[in-house]
Amino acid sequence: MLAAKTIILKMDCPDPDRLDRTVWTYTEGMNYVSAVVHNLGKPKGSAALQKIVYSALREKIGLKSQMSFNVVRQVTGTYRTLQEQVRAKKTVWQQIMYAPTSMTFSFGRDFSLDGDDIGLTTLNGRRKYRFFRYPHMEQYLDGTWKFGASKLVKHLDGTYYFHLCCERETETREVTKSSTFMGVDLGQNFLAVTSTTDRKCRFFCGGKAKDLRNVYSTMRKRLPSKGTRSAKRMLKHLSGRERRLMTDMNHRVSKEIVSFAVQNNVDVIGLEDLSGIGDRTKISKRRRYTHHSWAFFELQTFIEYKAREKGISTIYLDPAYTSQTCPRCNHISKNNRNGRSFVCECCGHSLHADLIGAQNIESRARTYRYTLEVQGCSQPPIRELSTR
Ligand SMILES: [Zn+2]
Repeated sequence: MLAAKTIILKMDCPDPDRLDRTVWTYTEGMNYVSAVVHNLGKPKGSAALQKIVYSALREKIGLKSQMSFNVVRQVTGTYRTLQEQVRAKKTVWQQIMYAPTSMTFSFGRDFSLDGDDIGLTTLNGRRKYRFFRYPHMEQYLDGTWKFGASKLVKHLDGTYYFHLCCERETETREVTKSSTFMGVDLGQNFLAVTSTTDRKCRFFCGGKAKDLRNVYSTMRKRLPSKGTRSAKRMLKHLSGRERRLMTDMNHRVSKEIVSFAVQNNVDVIGLEDLSGIGDRTKISKRRRYTHHSWAFFELQTFIEYKAREKGISTIYLDPAYTSQTCPRCNHISKNNRNGRSFVCECCGHSLHADLIGAQNIESRARTYRYTLEVQGCSQPPIRELSTR
């Protein structure tokens, strides 16, 4: 299994004009190729597309050879995703425009790492840039990780950062008849509840941040909707602060969840597939609100990353009725649940209500895994991770 992690390197950049010019030209190339693909009406393979656009990219636009490869690969990727979304009727075929704020580099081809320096190929040749090397980065720079396609990004503060993509093969735990599964239920009364096949469980409350989230959303409502400049500034400040608090908490909780999984020899973690959940009416409003929040997506993504580093795979499962289903007899009813207590109206099985979701997700993970195995799939489909 491939573990991937993007670390953000702050660069000391004495000549931003040089990078600006390179990024602008690169983006011009992206938009040129984007127009070509748009006119073709469907995505084309990288190699075939390369033949069509290479000379224009090199001679008219003036990109370096490796840059033109990166441009084509990146545009092809975007249009493949677009085509999938068009097929799923989520959007229509359209021309994608790229903004001149980022640019992709390939390790060993047009970027290198040497001590505290990043070497980048610009339009004016190779340049070295010092980056700020912080202790938390050391584990990724100790030679055990490989570097993949990475991005030079101009942040809102106007300076350049290098988003270094680190990858490492981890040994995946083999799934056997005696494997241990763990279900993670998010955002009921607790931030997260976990339960394993051996019925080991833990509640994660997330500490102060959950209350803070409510406080912030109330405060936000009180701010005037059109607002003065200072109110807008305050809103921006609040949401930025709230975001950082939630992200910190998600890092902490995901780390605890994964170490709980490691302690209990968990091989596979089951998470709720929250995509498209807004369309469902069978989920209560309160739960829908919490599910909609980006914070839970972030938490799941962190769990997935951290689990992967430990060789634990994750699968996403349909969360419908997980809080109303009896884990013993599978009877589904709203009446099974009453506040914090769960008593099955069919078999009388009773339990703390917040554990029910986690137990049901664990059991769905187990069933799903064996179904895949019977069909001859050794690996569950991996959800594409966003690299921000
Ligand atoms: Zn029951």
